[in-house]
Amino acid sequence: MKVFFPQFFLMLCLSFSAMASELVLTEEEQNFIASHPVIKVAMMPDFTPFSYKSGAGLVGFEHDLLALISEKTGLRFETRTDKWTSIYNAFKNKEVDMISSISYKEYREPFTLFTSPYYNIPIMIFVKDDFGEYKGLQSLEGKKVGVLKDVFYIEELKKAGDLNLVYYDSYDALTKDLVFGKIDALMQNLPNINHLIKKYLYTNITLASELSLPNTKREDLRFGIQPELPLLSSIVQKTLSAMTRQEKAALSDKWIGSIKEYVGGHILLNKNEIAYVNTNRIKYCINPKGLPFEGLNEKGEHIGMSADYYQLFSQMLSAKFELVSTDSWSQSLEYIQQRRCDMLALGMETPERKSYLNFTSSYLEVPLVVATRVDVPFINHILDLEGEKIGIIRGDAFVDILRNRYPSLELVEVDDINEGLDKVKDGQLFGFIDTLASIGYEFQSQYFGELKIAGKINEKLKLSIAVRNDDETLLAVLQKAVNNITNELHRKILNKWIPIKYEKGIDYKLIWEIVLVALLIVLLLMYWNTKVTKANRLLKQAQKDIEEKNIALERLALTDNLTGLFNRRKLEELLQVELDRKERFERDFCLSILDIDYFKQVNDTFGHQTGDSVLVEVSELLVSSLRKTDYVGRYGGEEFIIIFPESNLDAVTVLLDALRVKIADHGFAEVGSLSASFGFTLSQSGDSIETIIARADEALYRAKEGGRNRVEVQL
Ligand code: GH3
Ligand code: MG
Ligand code: MG
Repeated sequence: MKVFFPQFFLMLCLSFSAMASELVLTEEEQNFIASHPVIKVAMMPDFTPFSYKSGAGLVGFEHDLLALISEKTGLRFETRTDKWTSIYNAFKNKEVDMISSISYKEYREPFTLFTSPYYNIPIMIFVKDDFGEYKGLQSLEGKKVGVLKDVFYIEELKKAGDLNLVYYDSYDALTKDLVFGKIDALMQNLPNINHLIKKYLYTNITLASELSLPNTKREDLRFGIQPELPLLSSIVQKTLSAMTRQEKAALSDKWIGSIKEYVGGHILLNKNEIAYVNTNRIKYCINPKGLPFEGLNEKGEHIGMSADYYQLFSQMLSAKFELVSTDSWSQSLEYIQQRRCDMLALGMETPERKSYLNFTSSYLEVPLVVATRVDVPFINHILDLEGEKIGIIRGDAFVDILRNRYPSLELVEVDDINEGLDKVKDGQLFGFIDTLASIGYEFQSQYFGELKIAGKINEKLKLSIAVRNDDETLLAVLQKAVNNITNELHRKILNKWIPIKYEKGIDYKLIWEIVLVALLIVLLLMYWNTKVTKANRLLKQAQKDIEEKNIALERLALTDNLTGLFNRRKLEELLQVELDRKERFERDFCLSILDIDYFKQVNDTFGHQTGDSVLVEVSELLVSSLRKTDYVGRYGGEEFIIIFPESNLDAVTVLLDALRVKIADHGFAEVGSLSASFGFTLSQSGDSIETIIARADEALYRAKEGGRNRVEVQL
């Protein structure tokens, strides 16, 4: 049951100050701009979604807001980013003119001119979809409620009710646990959770209410300006006040996400736009072979996700859309250049296309993957494909992007997905790049057992509506439609067409189980067509199965089958986190590799199965001896890696030696006694995964050379 409160929309609107008004600058203010062309602004690098690193640069709500101010006033902003305490001090020391994300505090007044808030961060309570009716905090009594450790409202919350609070270090982990049913509810600020929902396409959690406690106020985000620059302050304030409702809504929808549920009402169009949708049939082209995104059925009718989006658009806008059929995606691109159609529902913005198309903001992001034959090893990085022939669909937005970014790839253009996959199958191509959804869709009907998804590519397809660039009205109308599609509606469409969740590691057996479960639902539904209620019950059960399978899939992607320890990929991921922490916060950690001595003999004497049992026993010894904060995983064969976060050489030496003795003293079933050799090292600045593992390996080599059953260190 979903509970949405109208005051939330109000709140989103009110986050911006009052009503829009015309921006009129005084002569003094104009002179200020002329004489101060560049303004230094201090911002945070990790304050999602307001200002954070994404790919090469910094993005977020505040960056777009500054760009808007720039556009309207001519001021140019030079940003300086650092963690909060550093930028706050820089502002106090007058090293910068302005600071973003600052909240009003009386004690800050002597050194800060505050603008009005451009956003007030609300704290939200989210529950699972099946939570039932939420009737206030008392509904959470006795339930597991996840919160961020040390968050500022904890003390008040503890007094507010008898909640079973569960503490988390990160928003990611907190949200994931709600999604996977380990907790019943969570509290988190709205921008953050919306960001996570968009990023991971979470579908089964629902907003219950805003958390309102007598002394817990929303956190206000403002610009702070040096008191010596009152003119700058008035210019920025005036620009904020003069922002139109659309500008505010676009910013908020893009970065925070709209939480209001679309209830079938119409979008507010202006006179000109109303006349346009009333008199025009909007002609559109699609990719005829791009399912599940879009395609044609046997009757030549438009189906797929974009068909659902068009239905939504026509309902929201009361507009009429008409399909102009083409044979291929590249032909659709030709048609729109020749103005034989007006728009494409799913198009990615590229510099080349901007010469003849305008784009709305993007409303769908999908990861790209590589399909190969089954006998090819897992592909970790796109550069693993260097020198190989890789297929990609002609006219695809990614052809140019991949060509420019990775000139060493040999990209071969094909007409459609089937040509691409067929060529991979018969060896003419090594791999084929497309979205997981499209490739997964094809795998459901063909190629099963012959092709597999060998890896994910970092690039993402960001889809917007593309509109011929001589039609500004249509662009404006469609942008309004995009602004009004809620996450909820996106999720409904996604769920309908993409039964498979995007997960990093892919276990085929499970995916097929999932696909089969989904297929089963379809068959059951057809069979029970008349007995809808009964089918619905089955559908619910099947959905539950899918969820459970997804949880299992997630776990499998991270763990080693035999031992249940982290697998190599997860270890490398954890290692990268530690390396980053070392770089940013100077937190040292140690890394150890251990290798069982003379393990081959175990296999040779007792058989492979006994060898496997030994591996399991060793992993149990490892888990039981290590601290909760350490990570252990199977790196390959009979080699294990242990990561000791926040540790030093002395402590780790003692730990490892104890571990060595424990293994040497252990009686292994059937085999008797065995030993292991250990190499370890301490993190150094500038380390990469490769360099730190190489040092630990070097130490391990010496431990082996020195007679085995030893611990060696390499610095
Ligand atoms: P050393 O002391 O030098 O490490 O000697 P070793 O015999 O352990 O030598 P090496 O590390 O080269 O041999 C590793 C052996 O581990 C080779 C392979 O047969 C075996 N092995 C690798 N993975 C598995 C596995 O998953 N199960 C089993 N049973 N054996 C494995
Ligand atoms: Mg070995
Ligand atoms: Mg060995």
